Amino acid sequence: MILQKLDLLHRGKAKDVYRTEDDDLLCIHFRDDLTAGDGTRKGSEEGKGRAAGLISAYLFRYLSDHGIPTHQVEVMGPQDILVKSLSMVPVEVVVRQVAAGSLVKRLGLPAGQVLPRPLVEWYYKRDDLGDPLLAEEHVRLLHLLTDEEMAQIRSLALGIFRLLSQRFKEANLLLVDMKLEFGRHPKEGFLLADEVSPDTCRLWDEETGSSLDKDLFRQGKAPIVPAYREVLHRLGLEE
Ligand code: ADP
Ligand code: UDP
Repeated sequence: MILQKLDLLHRGKAKDVYRTEDDDLLCIHFRDDLTAGDGTRKGSEEGKGRAAGLISAYLFRYLSDHGIPTHQVEVMGPQDILVKSLSMVPVEVVVRQVAAGSLVKRLGLPAGQVLPRPLVEWYYKRDDLGDPLLAEEHVRLLHLLTDEEMAQIRSLALGIFRLLSQRFKEANLLLVDMKLEFGRHPKEGFLLADEVSPDTCRLWDEETGSSLDKDLFRQGKAPIVPAYREVLHRLGLEE
């Protein structure tokens, strides 16, 4: 399929979304930009978009090969992915296996503590509100998802986490936590959308526990691209 990207529909914090010649398909372009702390910390690093794009494209393909329904149609280039246009659910689904980040800050658990079972959390995707944590009662109150839809998405998210934990383990990486986004397709139901990359996951080296993800940027430890390239290398994608 040779499709051209047309006009820009949405400029997000790290990616651009373009219309294509097919109204049902969009092109997502991964930029070099980095943000953290609800956009308060901003930066850019050459090669970040390419590395994140390649990793995400590979993982979406991997998930799809293992039965997970995703938005990805085709890789147009290292930073450009052709996807199905979805009505996005304004909820970020975080799955965690190890305490880190906001879980540590909010609950006072020791960083690095392994959780007895994967934890699923819901966050309202609203930059103006600082993406607040949602109780399931809030999800119902705001009519974001029905109980049945929450159950469906929870099960998909846990399945994705299990598959990716295993794949990263083969690369000597510990999948600590990850953020997922889902969208509704008119015929196919919920599909995994957006991206899965070191921008949206915490990945720790199995032996040393060092971070190979966006935490390096959050902690002001630039450059991050060598770490992202190390992930590419360990997944067998690049020398
Ligand atoms: P943000 O909007 O949070 O700043 P990005 O820079 O990642 O984030 O922008 C990408 C945008 O594209 C996000 O708003 C995401 O929800 C949206 N998106 C991802 N996949 C799809 C899809 N398949 N269909 C429609 N929108 C999508
Ligand atoms: N995450 C994300 N986008 C967000 C918030 C979180 O991709 O807007 C990812 C983050 O990279 C981590 C997981 O979700 O892998 C859990 O993040 P946490 O709630 O600990 O928030 P943080 O303190 O990292 O902002």
